[in-house]
Amino acid sequence: MTNNSNLSDNKNNRLEFSIKIKKEVRMNVGGICCWCKKYTHCGVIAHIYPAAKNGPRSKEMELFYWINEDYITSDKNAIWLCLECHNKIDKKENEFKYTGTRLMSERKEVENWWDNYGSIG
Ligand SMILES: [Zn+2]
Repeated sequence: MTNNSNLSDNKNNRLEFSIKIKKEVRMNVGGICCWCKKYTHCGVIAHIYPAAKNGPRSKEMELFYWINEDYITSDKNAIWLCLECHNKIDKKENEFKYTGTRLMSERKEVENWWDNYGSIG
């Protein structure tokens, strides 16, 4: 039995991020899609580990027993993506291609880049 086995399995009861977190996560990468690294004005803040029980990367999430609802809705679990990347990354059948650990490292890379070069001027 794991901590995250009791996460919501109801589509209408998804674990969503607050507006504040959405704004911060987007701002920290300067609006650059964390996967394709292109600037996008109309992207989405996506869940790295899923908002609903059987969503993408739920299998991988089972390895991390400590992931709970607070973690799911925290900024650590959020990633800014363009719509095209979001479509690929949030497909259940692609969950082993776009792993959570990979998404986190891509996000970190964009954040570091933006920290160093993005906000100049
Ligand atoms: Zn993209």
